[in-house]
Amino acid sequence: MLLEVHSITKHYGPQKALAGVTLSVPKGQIVGLLGPNGAGKSTLMKSILGYLPTDEGTIHFDGIDVREGGDAMRHRMGYLPEHNPLYPEMYVREFLDFIAGLHGFNTRSARAEKVRQTIERVGLTQEAHKPISALSKGYKQRVGLAQAILHDPELLILDEPTSGLDPLQLKEIRALIKSFGQSRTVILSTHILQEVEAMCDRVVIINQGRIVEDAPLVDLIAQGGLEQAFDTLAG
Ligand code: ADP
Repeated sequence: MLLEVHSITKHYGPQKALAGVTLSVPKGQIVGLLGPNGAGKSTLMKSILGYLPTDEGTIHFDGIDVREGGDAMRHRMGYLPEHNPLYPEMYVREFLDFIAGLHGFNTRSARAEKVRQTIERVGLTQEAHKPISALSKGYKQRVGLAQAILHDPELLILDEPTSGLDPLQLKEIRALIKSFGQSRTVILSTHILQEVEAMCDRVVIINQGRIVEDAPLVDLIAQGGLEQAFDTLAG
């Protein structure tokens, strides 16, 4: 298994965000974490990245305890946080060059090559010379995705990657995520049912900090159970 999450719990003060989550993810899956706002999806993702200490339980990435994996482990993961924090005053190419530097591409030519490849991969060629602040929301989201995949991570974690996009942008970003997921492992969160249907191999439904359903998408659809499972959430 690439990822083993075992019985994790997490509180923020009195607020319980995760109440005993266990999840195994093999290589090569696109997993959709589906659940209403406040279900615990972001908390689970930040815990997997090792950014957020959990109260109980363990998380292993490729056999490494994520609390001890440090930078070496995080270079094997890519993350697009919710709300896609970018530096609006930076130019697209300049920002991605900066990210490449963070990932250890030390020479100017190595960085330039990586940035060029990534810009092409996410379809940003026409926009690469612009400041990020001048881009549409869909293109900003591509920049966010570009910074997450630039170093070819084995595990890509995307927190609500398509929220706020118009239908055309949505289609394009979904296609990009799907193409990345053909060779890598992706965990993405959404509160929209159609998102998982469009992109994922497997659906993990989270509600109030617990996994209430975990099944291959095709099985849930065959049983007519996806909408049903989602409808029962949060009353
Ligand atoms: P989701 O990503 O599914 O919307 P979150 O993981 O963001 O859910 O939140 C799970 C629960 O934890 C929610 O009740 C949320 O209000 C709470 N929560 C999240 N972050 C914090 C925080 N920093 N401080 C206090 N409560 C938080």
